[in-house]
Amino acid sequence: MEDGAFGLSISLSANNVYPEECIEVLEVVREYGGVFHNHMRSLFYTLRDAVRETIMIAERSGVPGVCSHVYGRKYEGWGKPVEAMRQIQEARNLGVEVVADVYPWPFAACANALSLFVGGGAYDERVHGRLEEGLTVEGMVRDLEESTSWMGMKEELMASWEAENEENERRRRLLWERSRVEAPRTRPVETTPVIAHSKTHPELVGLNFTEVAETLGMDDWLGALRRVIIDDGGATYLGTTMTHEEDRKAVMSRPWTMFESDSSMVDRCPPQPMIKPVHPRGSACAAMILGRHVREQGLMTLEEAVRKMTSLTAQFHRIGDRGLIREGMKADIAVFDPKTLKSNASYAEPCRWATGISTVIVNGQVEYDEGRHTGQLAGKVLRLKR
Ligand SMILES: [Zn+2]
Repeated sequence: MEDGAFGLSISLSANNVYPEECIEVLEVVREYGGVFHNHMRSLFYTLRDAVRETIMIAERSGVPGVCSHVYGRKYEGWGKPVEAMRQIQEARNLGVEVVADVYPWPFAACANALSLFVGGGAYDERVHGRLEEGLTVEGMVRDLEESTSWMGMKEELMASWEAENEENERRRRLLWERSRVEAPRTRPVETTPVIAHSKTHPELVGLNFTEVAETLGMDDWLGALRRVIIDDGGATYLGTTMTHEEDRKAVMSRPWTMFESDSSMVDRCPPQPMIKPVHPRGSACAAMILGRHVREQGLMTLEEAVRKMTSLTAQFHRIGDRGLIREGMKADIAVFDPKTLKSNASYAEPCRWATGISTVIVNGQVEYDEGRHTGQLAGKVLRLKR
């Protein structure tokens, strides 16, 4: 905080940290006038509990809080974000400063389906670690085709899921005993991810693994997934959380929800098929909101959408000199045509830039103009001013 941090970012979903610990650490953040972001404990059937916990942390610490990217996962979480918006509104009515942010994409994360079969540990360790050891899409597809190595992969996968489930149950019990907070149970893995892109089976997009097996007339869903991956030559991408558009719209349209991308921008994608696919949200969030939700659906006015991307975010984070076009403010300006602005990124082609934005000015310097980067790098690290 002494060096200008804006506050604390906490990830209760990843750590099973106790809420009391957050409140204690936030005492320091309050002294400096900062905020906190909570990557909530659950975005599934216990979303209401996770929101209640975030509100409780904000209330007891006296630090304004953000419920990070509120959504509900297929199917058990669908409809919950609408309830979450009501909970937050009630807390705000009672004077607790708590808000939410949201991005407009149906899948929260994407992965190459092959990564399921890379053995051992958490996703990032498995895939990143093995890339250094020479893991390739072609090699993985060959291993899937060959029946002895396939049997081995299948066995290893089952064993690691079992171990993960046990560990999760152990942590759930501890958390409940200590804080009476309910964390989600581990669900059978075949019911969670859905196909986000398949090169040769477009009819499977949006289906989970058991639905994929049904569609292909197979009993064994792992076998069905194997077939799709082989047919696709490795170009099968999974969306690991499928959210509902009505839920996203309910969250987006609240006056206190900010827009975010939950991602950095990637301007050049790895070669296809990508073993670690890039999420399209980094390239196209603003264009998706202003094109699809504002122009096509009329979910809110253009002015309101722009406010939620700019001044609302700046004001919540106490960035006093940004977010508005006014004398004395820093000139961070995007010039776009609201009639043509359009997102072009997809799960298959996540790095395609949006069209309809002609110029981007950062700190008064033109950085992007008519389809090209000017070479200016005028961005600066932002710090909380006391
Ligand atoms: Zn997240």
